[in-house]
Amino acid sequence: MTFNQEVKKELCRLESKRACCEWALLYAMLVFSRGFPEEEVIFTTESKTVADKFAQLLAGLTATVASVRTDFRRLKEEAPRYSVCVEEPSQRELLAERFSLPSPALVPAYVEKDCCVAAFFRGLVLLYGSVTNPEREYHLEIGAPNDQLADQVLLLGQAYGLRFKCTHRKGIALLYLKESEQIEDFLTFVGATKATLKLMDIKIVKEMRNKVNRATNCETANLGKTVEASQTQVADIRYIQEHRGLDYLDEDLRELAALRLENPECSLRELAGMLSAPISRSGVNHRLKRISETAQKLREASQPHSD
Ligand SMILES: [Zn+2]
Repeated sequence: MTFNQEVKKELCRLESKRACCEWALLYAMLVFSRGFPEEEVIFTTESKTVADKFAQLLAGLTATVASVRTDFRRLKEEAPRYSVCVEEPSQRELLAERFSLPSPALVPAYVEKDCCVAAFFRGLVLLYGSVTNPEREYHLEIGAPNDQLADQVLLLGQAYGLRFKCTHRKGIALLYLKESEQIEDFLTFVGATKATLKLMDIKIVKEMRNKVNRATNCETANLGKTVEASQTQVADIRYIQEHRGLDYLDEDLRELAALRLENPECSLRELAGMLSAPISRSGVNHRLKRISETAQKLREASQPHSD
């Protein structure tokens, strides 16, 4: 089951505690329909449970004869889709009158109380929305039938701290949320607490994974620097060895130079621990610098004088 399906399953199971909220759900279904009341179909969904629930809600509250149509016209491997329809034109007219459809503005009576606003948004996301798998991306969107209604719902959401943004895809107005906290707040607001918790869990795992990745990248970078520095040190020591022999080095540098040649992969700290008289990491660093300076002087001395 996709995250979107989980959200919808949870929302569909919620029972409205008050009659006012049932009306708000019904209103969400009708006002955001793209074709209704001119067309028979109110909305189409992949979930038979959702279609049945809303057809029953419509029949129960308004005594409208609503049917659920199964659409098998799509490709065989795709799941069938279910449309909730009101076939009788006179019934559609009655509904249009009762709910002031189509209207560019929301009818305040249906979204007056906080409980009803939550139910209204629940209806919108259940029937006209989708939530992307948070493993992939934080994104929740609701398709609006036109710009005016999208704006109205955007403003309604703002009053409840839901900061929807509006965009268009293929000429269709879309309300969307992009930030994980915003999506969490929205899902909690509409009553999908299980989905909210799941999203939070996924977010924690994702953040941990990012942290580990960052740390690994950092370690790799440091390792790269260590290897690079070691290669330079080994080249310097070899130069001294070939031209003057390691005895040329001061006594305190000889042992370290030999250890470095034998252990090019070791860190400074590891080299420090190998010395017969252990010194600090910075002490090793200082001695290696002196070795390199010695090599540099030898190289310069071997260059023919230009004057
Ligand atoms: Zn209510």
